[in-house]
Amino acid sequence: MLEKQNLLGLTQVKLKKFFSDLNEKPFRTKQIMQWIYHQGALDFGDMHNFSKDLRQKLQAIASIELPEVTSINNSKDGVIKWVIKLGEENHIETVYIPQKDRGTLCISSQVGCSLACTFCSTGYQGFNRNLQNHEIIAQVLIAQNHLKDKNKRISNVVFMGMGEPLLNESPVYDACDILLDDWAFGLSRRRVTVSSSGIVPALKRMSDTVPVSLAISLHAPNDELRDILVPINKKYPIKELMKACHYYLNAGTQERHVMFEYVMLKGVNDSIEQAQELSKLINFWFQGESAKVNLIPFNPFPETKYTTSNDIAIDKFQDILYRSGIRTTTRRTRGDDVDAACGQLAGKVVDKSRRSAGRD
Ligand code: SAH
Ligand code: SF4
Repeated sequence: MLEKQNLLGLTQVKLKKFFSDLNEKPFRTKQIMQWIYHQGALDFGDMHNFSKDLRQKLQAIASIELPEVTSINNSKDGVIKWVIKLGEENHIETVYIPQKDRGTLCISSQVGCSLACTFCSTGYQGFNRNLQNHEIIAQVLIAQNHLKDKNKRISNVVFMGMGEPLLNESPVYDACDILLDDWAFGLSRRRVTVSSSGIVPALKRMSDTVPVSLAISLHAPNDELRDILVPINKKYPIKELMKACHYYLNAGTQERHVMFEYVMLKGVNDSIEQAQELSKLINFWFQGESAKVNLIPFNPFPETKYTTSNDIAIDKFQDILYRSGIRTTTRRTRGDDVDAACGQLAGKVVDKSRRSAGRD
């Protein structure tokens, strides 16, 4: 028997083709997207504006399938973490962070990550595989369906969970397309953010493909230190990365900016001199509001040798950037009591890269 086509995660263009191949009218695309993404319907039988014939046809050849959620953890500050099972042995994690005026969902793009940043729990686990379109979009649908009952909503989606989104380009771009599509999640492009450690050629492709916001994991003001913290820097050093960020800023018609993320590691990258060096770097490459910096207090995990910078060091660091004219914010740690804070996501990864075996 032919495997049923999972309609979840198909973009508007792909769904149009699906219905046209069935000799159905194009307006079925809008209807089915609204059923899935607005109503949360998973059963073709519930779609009462479809003819009985069409419902039966769809039941025979297609499905709308969500993966199994193995646990839902609620932290005391309102953060929710879903652990989602993919296949027999792998698990990924998705996190909802409620704030005063918004609700941010942090989603995963890969099972593990191959890039081995030394301060990141996901990086420690090694890599198993890329997520498929439907596995990325399922995270948003699972969260939305859960939150609807609690009168909460997702206003922002960030690719800051497990994995490097720009090493899984096509499924990530399709997912962005669906997040922005009014027939699906209808988020504005400012509210969908791809976070990357800086895969330069992919960054350029992304700039021309999806009009979403960009966060870059910088974490160091020079190549010498970034080579250690973010090893992909050896392949794509800071100068190349900054040029690619410019490419992003100039692509597309709308105004864009780049958010630089900088994890604060005590005694490693948090000195006054390093803050000055970072200010120089950013001011050399960017003007006005085209670049911002987001300082992230390091979130520890069992295997790590790093510790978090103290509040005074973070304040001083922020002050130096701020005084040099760079818009700088500090991210408040949330959800750490359920290991849901940035960089603590670990899921369960069967490491195929064998990297985790060789770690110190
Ligand atoms: N691979 C992408 C997206 C996932 S990581 C990237 O690297 O950008 C999302 C963010 O969490 C990144 O900025 C990453 O540097 C940060 N992060 C990773 N480990 C962390 C930790 N232990 N504490 C705080 N932030 C961390
Ligand atoms: Fe991968 Fe991002 Fe973690 Fe680096 S910080 S190991 S790129 S998930």
